[in-house]
Amino acid sequence: MTTFTLDGRTALVTGARDGIGRAAAVALAEAGADLVLWGHRDDLDSAAAEVAGYGRKVKTVAADLSDEAAVQRTAERVLAEHEVQILVNNAGIIRRGPALDMPDSDWSEVLQVNLNSVFQLSRLFGGPMCERGSGKIINIASMLSFQGGVNVTSYTASKHAIAGLTRALANEWAPRGVNVNAVAPGYVATANTAVLRSDPVREAEIRSRIPAGRWAAPHEIVGAIVFLASPAADYVHGHVLAVDGGWLSR
Ligand code: NAD
Repeated sequence: MTTFTLDGRTALVTGARDGIGRAAAVALAEAGADLVLWGHRDDLDSAAAEVAGYGRKVKTVAADLSDEAAVQRTAERVLAEHEVQILVNNAGIIRRGPALDMPDSDWSEVLQVNLNSVFQLSRLFGGPMCERGSGKIINIASMLSFQGGVNVTSYTASKHAIAGLTRALANEWAPRGVNVNAVAPGYVATANTAVLRSDPVREAEIRSRIPAGRWAAPHEIVGAIVFLASPAADYVHGHVLAVDGGWLSR
């Protein structure tokens, strides 16, 4: 179905080295898009090789998303060379611990990477999309865009805000032809959840609450990202699409 193909488009994915970001980049390439992979100080060679394996053009850039000036410089460099039609704001971090013990720096770092940089990148790449009258922005939300979570205050605050930001930008930019949506993954086996999965009690607690009865693999999340990036989703605006094994239905 041509409405699901991304031929001739360029997608930028942040946090593309591994986990959900890498799986998203590969799926977008498989659907036809060329890729800009945005890393941290990571080695993106392996992810880039996998994308190139689908015959797509791929460029890698690196900038710490907690450094606003570096983000601005890097985005400007990308914009000078590429028309980015799809932006996937995927990179994210989590700091676990009780709110009363949390260092102020943990709070600021999580909000900076998970929220402020998403707003910054959305404006930097969404501006040209609005001028062209088309574009897709997909933010990665979480079950903690809907629920409070356990000992992850800063993460929950950032992911609730991602749902709000998605809706607020959709309201402003839908009339300009730009779709802003989010995907909310359930519990996915990545580095982000390694601590939970290594605690047998917590792991069993979580798994037993998932109707599907298991954690997701990263590749199970990314069909929703490809859909939201495609012409098939041209009339979808401000939606937070859960891909959660039924978690929110419980
Ligand atoms: P991950 O830790 O495997 O990947 C996170 C990526 O973000 C890495 O590539 C890392 O290099 C990048 N990153 C982190 N800090 C950065 C910074 N300061 N600057 C630039 N890049 C930075 O985790 P993941 O599970 O694949 O997470 C991807 C997204 O999915 C995150 O937004 C996360 O909150 C969200 N999410 C994950 C789960 C899950 O269960 N794994 C569930 C819901 C939402």
